[in-house]
Amino acid sequence: MKAVYIDSHGPMDRVRVGQLKEPVLKDDEVLLAVKAAALNHLDIHVRNGRPGVEIPMPHVLGSDAAGVVTAAGPQAHGVREGDHVILHPGLSCGCCEFCLRGEHSLCASFGIVGLSRPGTFAEKIAVPFWCVRPKPAYLNFEEAAALPLATLTAWRMLMTRCRLQAGVTLLIHGIGGGVALAGLAIALNAGAETVVTSSSPEKLGKASALGAHHLIDYTAEDVAARAREITHGRGVDIVMDTVGAATWPIDFAAVRKGGSIVLCGVTTGAVAETNLQTLYWNQLTIMGSTLGSAEDFRRMLAAAETAKFRPVIDSVISIDHAAEALRKMESGAQFGKIVLKVAD
Ligand SMILES: [Zn+2]
Repeated sequence: MKAVYIDSHGPMDRVRVGQLKEPVLKDDEVLLAVKAAALNHLDIHVRNGRPGVEIPMPHVLGSDAAGVVTAAGPQAHGVREGDHVILHPGLSCGCCEFCLRGEHSLCASFGIVGLSRPGTFAEKIAVPFWCVRPKPAYLNFEEAAALPLATLTAWRMLMTRCRLQAGVTLLIHGIGGGVALAGLAIALNAGAETVVTSSSPEKLGKASALGAHHLIDYTAEDVAARAREITHGRGVDIVMDTVGAATWPIDFAAVRKGGSIVLCGVTTGAVAETNLQTLYWNQLTIMGSTLGSAEDFRRMLAAAETAKFRPVIDSVISIDHAAEALRKMESGAQFGKIVLKVAD
């Protein structure tokens, strides 16, 4: 089968598009014919590798997919051949205290498809049966593939962790990324007032067209000062940070007393200084967030279905040109999800 994989960790030139053996189906798994798969920054982290994290090679990249079930193992319940499905990429043991509480992303063995097991950039993938859900009928395969990882991450950050409500002010850094754009859609749906940043006037224009209330060009303006101006000096209620080191000091300058900062990624670096005085004096809440639980996924899908929101898609690129697609994501030029078309 055709797949996008690496033989060893390193830069972009390690990415191969070629033939690998089809996965062997286990009893509690389903086999999917992948129609579309979406790119995430996680693919870059997996490609680069992390010291101490061993991944069997060759390793197929990718965490998001939509496709058709072509086979189901004897212990795969509730899924049948021919079902159109999307993937919930979170993996967990299913039986520890956290899994039993429904908090799957707190499981000690928590993993993600494409990181902890072979990924989705392939014509065929085998996944545990509890990882697939019916594809929302209002989305085509490309749109459906673009939904899970980014929208689930944003959902948990804003709705589960921050308990976002109508009327709150939310600052989202780097509008254009998949999680940031999913956050914007979720926040607008919930009735929040949104402030978004970018270095690109074109991306800010697109965000405005999607409904973002306030736009800040961070190359021309002081983000925290503008956020305070917009909120009449008080600061925003919540900062949604997917950027990391570069925006961390801005988060503390832009958030109001008693406000929250929620972080899910570190595309600009994982180490940043924190002014502890600001943290306690302003009574701030700092939250980390990773992907989401099965319940987060269910609620996210239900909300998406009700609001009929569609993930913003930057481009759909053939799996044969996966390297080009990955390079585009790494450059940060995209606005929305980059999707690989795997099959018609
Ligand atoms: Zn568990």
